[in-house]
Amino acid sequence: MTTPHEPNSTTSNSPALSLTDFQKLIDKMYGAKDRERGIEGTFMWFMEEVGELATALREGRKEELEGEFADVVAWLTTIANVANIDLTQAIHKKYGTGCPGCQQLVCICPPEEKP
Ligand SMILES: [Zn+2]
Repeated sequence: MTTPHEPNSTTSNSPALSLTDFQKLIDKMYGAKDRERGIEGTFMWFMEEVGELATALREGRKEELEGEFADVVAWLTTIANVANIDLTQAIHKKYGTGCPGCQQLVCICPPEEKP
């Protein structure tokens, strides 16, 4: 955990960006295009990015990985915009009070269960 006064190597040059702000930013950047394309086509692009993330994880170069994680989150976020889902609200509702399976802050679900 870091505090605002203890920047770590990945955030020291990055201003804070909330998920809400990011979702708004992505909507401004791509919302019109992605609504035009539709959920199905946009989902295909998302899946392509997931594939690129898999490749980057295998190769393990930090810069490449950062870019692919950012792409996957951006495409997921734009799909949420097209589907009219507020990600902050959705995540808070599902994970804000703990694991959805066991309700604990540190999951104690048995390993054979998905969470
Ligand atoms: Zn759990």
